[in-house]
Amino acid sequence: MTREALVVGAGLAGSLTAVYLARRGFHVRVLERRGDPRAPGAREEGRSINLGLSQRGIVALREIGLLERLAPLTVPMRGRVVHLPDGTLRFQPYGVAEDQILHSVLRHDLNVALVDEADRLGVGFSWGRRVTAVDRAEPAVTTDDGTAHTADLVVGADGAFSAVRTHLGRGRRMDLHQEFLEWGYKELLIGVGDDGRPRTELRALHVWPGDEGLIVAHPNVDGSLTATVFLPFDGPHGFAGLTGAERVRSFFDRRFPDTLTLIPDLVEQFLAHPPASLVTVRTAPWHVTADEGRGIVLVGDAAHAVYPFFGQGMNAAFEDCSVLDRCLAAHPDDLPAALARFETTRRPHTDVLADLSKRNFVELRDKVRSPLFTARRKVDLALHRLFPNTWVPLYTLISHTTVPYGEALTRARRQDRVLGGVTAAVAGAALAGLARRSRNKGRWS
Ligand code: FAD
Repeated sequence: MTREALVVGAGLAGSLTAVYLARRGFHVRVLERRGDPRAPGAREEGRSINLGLSQRGIVALREIGLLERLAPLTVPMRGRVVHLPDGTLRFQPYGVAEDQILHSVLRHDLNVALVDEADRLGVGFSWGRRVTAVDRAEPAVTTDDGTAHTADLVVGADGAFSAVRTHLGRGRRMDLHQEFLEWGYKELLIGVGDDGRPRTELRALHVWPGDEGLIVAHPNVDGSLTATVFLPFDGPHGFAGLTGAERVRSFFDRRFPDTLTLIPDLVEQFLAHPPASLVTVRTAPWHVTADEGRGIVLVGDAAHAVYPFFGQGMNAAFEDCSVLDRCLAAHPDDLPAALARFETTRRPHTDVLADLSKRNFVELRDKVRSPLFTARRKVDLALHRLFPNTWVPLYTLISHTTVPYGEALTRARRQDRVLGGVTAAVAGAALAGLARRSRNKGRWS
């Protein structure tokens, strides 16, 4: 008998889950509060944001056979270009191997490709339908038009402020921890130059680090880049203080001078939109089971929203879909067992990702400028080049492999202890050399 699945949310996780479930033989319907992203004008209306696709996301897209078709929609990024306040640019490669690159893609384009693929596999979509209630016992969800939809499996892929998650926890024991960052973000477009060419290096992620603000820019296939400006919400140099054109101009002039050349209408763009917030969500449990082997499960941001500073939110969401599919394959006739296995396999690792994403905020904000950090990173990469299988930097493990996040952290901590020793030894030798030189200088002068 064909099993029925309902997916709430046709975002990145929802549309990919729908594809996996359809391939596994489920009859799938997706309920999405927004309109069809393929409708004329939807691209312009939607969020312009582009995302860095890395290995975990790549593996999932390859599994469903979509990777090749996406290639023309992506721009490869081989490393970071760090913009320093004095105008200096510093290139930091992501890795040592040819395939250790990230791919920048517009959220909208990726979403449309996934929805198209789901459609091709016979998935039904109900656009403009917001889920307002969930009945755990059936399970069933009710949409804002008053219709109740039942299914064997309900997947909550409705993002960081998930309605499914809220209803999952009603009247029972459920952990929910939400943490908002004191910084928010706005997007700015670095358009192409008057000659139609990119205004800066296209094949890289651009970073303007700083303790008062941070900018990250991803390239687009049309030669433009989308920059995300992260600033504190409060304070004179936060979003609250940067109100008039003059204040905005002088702030960027002082902190990120080259952005005013790259974005001639920066001030207008900056003042045109309110800032958005960033949230980390941890919750447990991720699933409930109902009678007759039915159940509800959360995936993607609904289960584990993270700050975007490791560029892993979408990649982790895609990996969720792939892991869930494997769990369903391992328990073809036992949905509760599959959902339980999914949660126990996956949650410890996404908890680690939440911590790593917070930590990378500090790294991008403060450390990428630091010569010690750069030196350490160089040693880290040099050791990786020498021992490619045994020494793998944390960034590489997270972005360019599918080693589970928790294992990646354990391995990196072990390496860090060694690296600390190596760096201390190198610094010690350098200091000893300096001291020797200054003693000799004293003797000769
Ligand atoms: P969403 O994309 O939020 O989709 C949820 C969907 O559910 C939406 O379509 C929504 O309309 C729908 N929905 C919500 N409520 C309901 C309801 N009640 N009924 C019906 N439908 C509903 N990740 C990366 O991997 N790489 C990056 O470079 C990266 N950069 C980022 C930069 C920024 C500034 C931000 C904020 C995030 C970034 N992320 C990145 C994270 C990434 O955007 C998210 O992790 C990803 O979008 C999660 O996908 P999702 O499908 O779980 O949630």
